[in-house]
Amino acid sequence: MTEFKAWFQCINGCSGRHPLNEIIYRCPQCNELLEVQHDMDLLKQRSPEEWKELFSQRIGGHEWPYGSSVWGKKEWVCPSLDNKNIVSTFEGGTNLFWAERLGHQLGLDDLWVKQCGMAHTGSFKDLGMTVLVSMVKQMISEGKNIKAVACASTGDTSAALASYCAVAGIPAIVFLPRNKVSLTQLIQPITHGVLTLSLDTDFDGCMKLVKEVCANNDIYLANSMNSLRIEGQKTISFELVEQFNWEVPDVVIVPGGNLGNVSAIGRGFQMLQELGLIDKLPRLVCAQAEMADPLYRSYKSGFKDFKPIQAQKTLASAIQIGDPVSVKKAIKTLQVFDGVVEEATEDELANAVGRANHTGLLCCPHTGVALAVLEKLAKRGEIRKNDRVVVISTANGLKFTDFLYNYHTDKLKGINSEFAYSPIDLPADYEKIRETILNTIDN
Ligand SMILES: *Cc1c(COP(=O)(O)O)cnc(C)c1O
Ligand SMILES: [Zn+2]
Repeated sequence: MTEFKAWFQCINGCSGRHPLNEIIYRCPQCNELLEVQHDMDLLKQRSPEEWKELFSQRIGGHEWPYGSSVWGKKEWVCPSLDNKNIVSTFEGGTNLFWAERLGHQLGLDDLWVKQCGMAHTGSFKDLGMTVLVSMVKQMISEGKNIKAVACASTGDTSAALASYCAVAGIPAIVFLPRNKVSLTQLIQPITHGVLTLSLDTDFDGCMKLVKEVCANNDIYLANSMNSLRIEGQKTISFELVEQFNWEVPDVVIVPGGNLGNVSAIGRGFQMLQELGLIDKLPRLVCAQAEMADPLYRSYKSGFKDFKPIQAQKTLASAIQIGDPVSVKKAIKTLQVFDGVVEEATEDELANAVGRANHTGLLCCPHTGVALAVLEKLAKRGEIRKNDRVVVISTANGLKFTDFLYNYHTDKLKGINSEFAYSPIDLPADYEKIRETILNTIDN
């Protein structure tokens, strides 16, 4: 088999190339972020048909590690890894939910929800973490001095890092903003036996501290400024088109916080196009919470400038970020994809979850942000009835039962829960039960 090749390179186009097993997060010349580049000429030696055939053969199979939907595309993701160093939980391969009833309520005929939360740790973060932790395992096997892997997190990155490091037996440290993640998210690193630092600050504060802790290079940084994560997350786009029999949807909507994922999804589509597997690109929509909307503000100025903000408290806690690391990548991506940025208020995101869950989904608040933005764009006619739309559901609603409970018991301050519904307390009495059922169902 051909030796496929990939390396880190500056997103500003500075000339240096750095191997993927080097501990490096920024360009030594200009200090911008790095991205992974692939030798596209080597990848083009196989025809689009050959790649499709290979990917379809591997999916769901048992030949390590290719049954994972990330590693089924290994040549396009991180070709230099030794298979024995890959740390995988068989990630990816999440289902596409045809949101038929929800779509009709919004006047849309072709609405789909990509259920990225149906994952080992309950969010799409697994897709990138498998790549990063595998590379750490490889570096350790080569004798590099890495004592632990660390990240700042709004709750899902830490869960993924903790689990993958526990699978591999590598020490991990997570930096969490105190009282700003859900109970499930707090329990995840704890149950994996990972050092969990609960800090009296917000995500942006945690991010500053973890960068300092990692500056010596003996603790490896697992945040998405490390572009190995982006390489894994871009497989969301590969999966999407494969699930649509290699057809490209018209619109993809994704909630954005640190803005790694919108960049990753863009890269995935661009790679598919460059290698001839698809012939057009979708429109990309980045959805932000109004309480943490620095990208939206920049979009409104035509991306002329970008200013970090102090993020305010939002139910969409995983995207409560005011100073997103990947903002430059995201803006570049949105400019290529005829991109839109729109935002949702707390009331809008909560009721979008309420509406969606009424049609059988079980959404997290971040997916609610994307769904609320979808509603707005559909109302404005920017998304049309026959457009094929995919909403990226980023986490499993079961991680956010505290939010759902408060929504349904009308305990969310300032929010009018339009779809609130509570259990009815009754004695164990047949007549009372029958009377209640008849009264409720008739209405
Ligand atoms: C991380 C995360 C996001 C945001 O992704 P970014 O890459 O930070 O923009 C959205 N939703 C959930 C549930 C997340 O965990
Ligand atoms: Zn540079």
